[in-house]
Amino acid sequence: MTQVIRKLGIMGGTFDPVHYGHLVAAEGARREFGLDRVIFLPSGTPPHKDPREVTSAEHRYMMTVLATLSNPYFDVSRVDIDREGVTYTVDSLRILHEQYGDSTELYFITGADAILEIVSWKQPDKLLELAQFIGATRPGFSLDRVPKPMQEWLNKYPQRVHFIRVPALAISSTDIRERVKAGDSIRYLVPEPVEHYIRRHNLYRQSI
Ligand code: ATP
Ligand code: MG
Repeated sequence: MTQVIRKLGIMGGTFDPVHYGHLVAAEGARREFGLDRVIFLPSGTPPHKDPREVTSAEHRYMMTVLATLSNPYFDVSRVDIDREGVTYTVDSLRILHEQYGDSTELYFITGADAILEIVSWKQPDKLLELAQFIGATRPGFSLDRVPKPMQEWLNKYPQRVHFIRVPALAISSTDIRERVKAGDSIRYLVPEPVEHYIRRHNLYRQSI
């Protein structure tokens, strides 16, 4: 019997590689909003990007699968990976909305900094119609410091944008790639299977 999913979290990202910051944010959102499931959505590889700049989608997908395997509430979607060309969040949300139907509420989880840039994303109003947004913030984040025009835009959707506080925000994929390149340890920054995968496939040695 398939479980009815009323509230679906979506954690979008490049996940190059996935790390504990992503996992902590997703788990925090799941708990705080009572999400039935969180789907990790690795981005496709933009056609114009140098393959040395972004690791192949299959590697990023595999690492995301390995990182989420032990959490029964987590899943990974190939929706963006299997689509050609540039993938926009609004299109991914449309596809997921169609897949899950009207009775499933979508919650897009992202870093708070990214939420403040939503206005520059493709079809920002449609985005907020399709999904509620959960922004993971670092301690000390205050909406008061958000620029006025942005605050006014957010005020148009009072029930659609939420902020949660999560630990582990200092971790970033950029830092992990730099550490691997420099031969530094990434232990305790990513799940062990991800660490092993990076080593076995010799990722991030040449690129940053
Ligand atoms: P990069 O350094 O390459 O930009 P990243 O660490 O920001 O990588 P992304 O794959 O770009 O990782 O991020 C996916 C999503 O996770 C984004 O919404 C981002 O804001 C959020 N995120 C990234 N790092 C953290 C973290 N440490 N804690 C909470 N959310 C995070
Ligand atoms: Mg980022």
